[in-house]
Amino acid sequence: MSSDSSPQARGTWPARGVDPPSYSQLLTDIREGRVKDLELSPRQQEVRVEFGDGRELRVPVFANDQQLLRTAEQAGVPLTVRDDRADAASAALVSNGLLVLLLLGGLALLLKRSAKVANKALGFGASKPRLQPEGGVSVRFEDVAGIAEAKEELQEVVTFLKAPERYTAIGARIPKGVLLIGPPGTGKTLLARAIAGEAGVPFFSMAASEFVEMFVGVGASRVRDLFRKAKEKSPCIIFIDEVDAVGRQRGAGIGGGNDEREQTLNQLLTEMDGFADNSGVILLAATNRPDVLDAALTRPGRFDRRITVDLPDRRGREEILAVHARTRPLAEGVRLSAWASRTPGFSGADLSNLLNEAAILTARRRQTTIDDVALGDALERITMGLTAAPLQDSAKKRLIAYHEVGHALLTTLVPHADQLDKVTLLPRSGGIGGFARTMPDEDVLDSGLISKAYLLARMVVAMGGRAAEQVVFGPDEVTQGASSDLELVGRIGREMVTRYGFSPLGPVALEAEGPEVFLGRDWLRSEPHYSKVTGNRIDAQVRELACHALEKAMALLEPRRDLMDVLVERLIVEETIDGDRFRAIVEADEQRRSACGSAAEADVQAAQVGVQAGVLNR
Ligand code: ADP
Repeated sequence: MSSDSSPQARGTWPARGVDPPSYSQLLTDIREGRVKDLELSPRQQEVRVEFGDGRELRVPVFANDQQLLRTAEQAGVPLTVRDDRADAASAALVSNGLLVLLLLGGLALLLKRSAKVANKALGFGASKPRLQPEGGVSVRFEDVAGIAEAKEELQEVVTFLKAPERYTAIGARIPKGVLLIGPPGTGKTLLARAIAGEAGVPFFSMAASEFVEMFVGVGASRVRDLFRKAKEKSPCIIFIDEVDAVGRQRGAGIGGGNDEREQTLNQLLTEMDGFADNSGVILLAATNRPDVLDAALTRPGRFDRRITVDLPDRRGREEILAVHARTRPLAEGVRLSAWASRTPGFSGADLSNLLNEAAILTARRRQTTIDDVALGDALERITMGLTAAPLQDSAKKRLIAYHEVGHALLTTLVPHADQLDKVTLLPRSGGIGGFARTMPDEDVLDSGLISKAYLLARMVVAMGGRAAEQVVFGPDEVTQGASSDLELVGRIGREMVTRYGFSPLGPVALEAEGPEVFLGRDWLRSEPHYSKVTGNRIDAQVRELACHALEKAMALLEPRRDLMDVLVERLIVEETIDGDRFRAIVEADEQRRSACGSAAEADVQAAQVGVQAGVLNR
């Protein structure tokens, strides 16, 4: 028996005010008859000793202590063994119980977490449309400007929703679906919300891309869910944005198409058939690619109304600006009509952004009203990007100045070209050292009709930069700065030859508009529908058009080298020359030329240009 395990080594023991005797003392006490009673607790390895004088003490003993038993037996001291099995059992029970509880707790926690994950996975099928309750839509028709025709058409839908009896009484079927077609930002969502607002019905909106998830079948169940929710709230409006994301023609695409998208589309078709006529649910959908929609989606009974929401014209833009200026203080003298003229091709969203940018600039400058300067800066920021640090007067700045003056001068000189808005040397982020901005002709823009002369003029103007570099610095010193101009020239040339029949190849359309829609832009080009020989002739024609444009540009710039020098000096000093001033300078120079008798020279030049124009206009 080691001394470590000796009971004495265990420190103090509970005794009623008296130190317990040592083990050997206890044995002596037993032998000498001083002990009256002993009670052994084997588990606790201790013995309760009752002395003859009435003291009661606990003394630690060895486990399985034979010595104590023998001594007690010999001395005739009664020794009882305490049965502490029950205590042990209950202690074990408690500790086991605790363990089980701990395990159960852990298990429950795990289950809860996995249930959450499972819920998420199963909840994929539930649609999450943004719902605006009845009366919750604050947009009205008066907030939508510049698209009068679309508004008028949709006015009827409001009546359908408000007073359906007027139509149903005479057996008219209320349309189930209205397709809003137009470029992004023209106010399609706004219109849909305005209908809900005017009719005072709930408005569900969802982008079609939100239907489609990674898992097959999720889109379909989302469509089901959306229609179920909508039917509960009927009459109401469901708005599906970018419906072409699911509504593309089935069976198109690579590798058998996208199963998930097709299933979603099928479900959409089924749901549209499923709700009864005049159920009060009207589906509005927006797209800017109506050409790619599945025919089943656009047949009567589904999206049977198509409303085109086009980019606004000048008057429309003015009206839209006025709508957005309602909440923004304009400085006196700001004419919105002038800004409408300066923003051709802008959508409603662009115009709203323009006013917002101007408001931000105004706040930054600590002014209280938005003035023309802020609007001008905002416009530039939107169209050209952020301003960069001005260039130092270096050879590079001079070269950029000649390049831009080349464009600007040709814009002013070439008939049919767009009007110059301004030319500037203030650089913009993205490596733009300066630019000559033109304003597209409103008539061309509004009518959508582009003449051959206009395209030829655009090519000449685009070549202005390269031509100026070549005239001033020589053919070996030209820079790559004209690369984007050349791209533009190439694109115009190719369209002229292959789409508009503006070339000796004859009035044939050899290519269709835009990239292949089903294959992802520019990912795979379909095989051309013409022979290799024709392909070569197309390339040759495009090259010829580009070369003639450059020659014509040089023929116009070469005799005006001194004017270019004057304009470049001015531009370097002033950094920006606006269109009117630029035209005045050019005009004065042209008059001086004819007055100075250089008319003869100009005639020769003009004759040359005429010859080239003849070639171009062939
Ligand atoms: P779309 O759905 O056609 O892409 P939105 O309806 O979302 O365009 O338009 C975006 C924002 O542009 C609108 O919230 C609104 O502020 C502005 N906007 C667009 N068109 C108009 C318009 N015709 N009249 C007034 N604001 C417009």
